[in-house]
Amino acid sequence: APAADGATPAKTPARTRDARAEYDKERADSKQLINMVVIGHVDAGKSTLMGHLLYQLGCVNKKVMHKYETESKKIGKQSFKFAWVLDETGEERTRGITMDVAHFKFETPQKTVTLLDCARSQGLYPQHDHRSVTASIRTRKHSRAAAADVAVLVVNATKGEFETGFESGGQTREHAILVRSLGVSQLAIAVNKLDTVGWCQARFDEIRGRLGTFLRSVGFRESELRYVPCSGLTGENLTQPAQEAALTAWYSGPTLLQVIDSFPAPERAVDRPLRLFVQDVFKGQQQSALSMAGRIDAGMLQVADKVTVMPHGETATVKGISIDEMPVQSAFAGDHVTVTLSGVDPQSQTVGVVLCDPGQPVKVTTKVQARIVIFSIDLPITKGYQVVVHYQSVSEPATITRLVCQLHRSSGEVLKQKPRCLPGNSSADVIITFQRPVCVELYKDFRDYGRLMLRVAGHTVAAGLITEVK
Ligand code: GDP
Repeated sequence: APAADGATPAKTPARTRDARAEYDKERADSKQLINMVVIGHVDAGKSTLMGHLLYQLGCVNKKVMHKYETESKKIGKQSFKFAWVLDETGEERTRGITMDVAHFKFETPQKTVTLLDCARSQGLYPQHDHRSVTASIRTRKHSRAAAADVAVLVVNATKGEFETGFESGGQTREHAILVRSLGVSQLAIAVNKLDTVGWCQARFDEIRGRLGTFLRSVGFRESELRYVPCSGLTGENLTQPAQEAALTAWYSGPTLLQVIDSFPAPERAVDRPLRLFVQDVFKGQQQSALSMAGRIDAGMLQVADKVTVMPHGETATVKGISIDEMPVQSAFAGDHVTVTLSGVDPQSQTVGVVLCDPGQPVKVTTKVQARIVIFSIDLPITKGYQVVVHYQSVSEPATITRLVCQLHRSSGEVLKQKPRCLPGNSSADVIITFQRPVCVELYKDFRDYGRLMLRVAGHTVAAGLITEVK
C-alpha cells in the first residue's frame, strides 16, 4: 500500500539472503534471549526483590553493595540497600556498577535475561496522555514494556496490602491488563513479603485464588501462570531453594530464578522482513550523522544494508550497528541495537519511525479497523469518542469514527450491527481514525505491530487488535 502521506516506498528488492542460516551460524552456541519486565503496585517490593536477586547472582559488585549497606544504615533504612541496586536516579550509587542500569542483564542456566523496566513507583506508563516535554521519558518506559516477552508480577502478601494493590485504582490489575494487552502471556507471580505473615500457606493460597480468577478473566492461561512464595528482603526462594522451615513445611516448588529459566523463549522472527520500531533517536556531531535505538522485532540488519524509514519512505544506509555498545556486523530479531544511519535528514526523524525492509515496508495509514475488548468504564463508547492510542512505543490521539458491530466477548459472534453505543465489559469491531499517518500492521501478520490500547485521561479503556488497514 502506498504511504498515506503521499510518499512512495523505495522499490529496492526484498532481502534475498538466508537470514535463518546466518542467525544459526552466528548464534548457535549462545543462550536464548528473553526480555522481562517487572510489574506490580507501588511498594510491593519490586526493586528490593530484583536488587536482591541480582545481588545473589553476583551481578552487583561487593564493594558497591557494602557502600549501599553503610549508606542505608546511616539513614536508618537498611532494607533500602537492595532497592538501590536498581535505582535509576541515584547516579552516585549506580556509578560503581559495571552494567547499564536501564538494561540490566543476568544469566540463568539456559537464558540471558534482559530486565527491561523496574516499573518503579511511577508505574509503567504515563498518568496523563497529553503530549508534553516529558513525553520521551514516558514513552520510553512504555516501550520497554512493549518489548517484553515475560513478566514478573510482584504482589505484597502483607495483611491488607495485597488487597490495597488489588482493588480498583491499585496498580496490580492495571499492570497485568497492560502487559497482557502488549502480548505478554507468560507470567511469574512473586507472592512477596511472605516473611511478614510468617510464611503462612493459607495467605499464599488465598492470594493465588483471587489473582488466578482475575488473571484468567483478562486473558492469561492458567498453564502459563507460576506462583512463587518469596521475600525480596530476606532473599528467600529467589535463587536458592527455600530454607525457612515455615516455608519448606508446605513448599517444595521452584525458586523465582528457576521459574524465569523455565519460560519458553519466544521464537525470533529472523526470516521475516526487517522491522525495527525506533524507541530513541540521537543526533550526532556531524550534520548528517544519526543514530537510532530499538529492538529488532523481525528480520536482520547488516552493516551497509539499505533500509526504508517509514512513514516517510526515505532510504537510508546502515553505517554501523552496536549491541551493548559493542560494534557488530549483523544483528537479528530480538536484539536491542543502536544503528547509525546515513542518507536521511536527521531533523525529520523521531521516536516511532520504523526501519523496514525496502521491498516490504510497514503499512502506513490514518484509519484502521480494530477488534477491541472494553474494560469496565463509566460512560459507554459512542461514535466520535476521543482516545489516545498506544501501540509499540508511541501514543497517538485518535477518534473512534464508527462502531461496526458488537460481539460476544468469548465466542466473537456478532450480537448487533452498527450499535449506537458500547458499554463497559463488551467487545466490538470499531474504526479508529488517527490525526496523522501511523505505521501499523495487521495483527495476523505482525502481532506486536497489530496490537493497541486505547486510553482516556490516563486510564486504559480498551485493548484491541488491528484487523484491517483502511
Ligand atoms: P517497589 O515500590 O515495589 O519497588 O518497592 P520497594 O522495593 O521500594 O519496597 C518497598 C518497601 O517494602 C521497602 O521499605 C522495602 O524494604 C520493603 N520490602 C520489600 N520487600 C520486602 C519483603 O520481602 N519483606 C519485607 N518485610 N519488606 C519488604
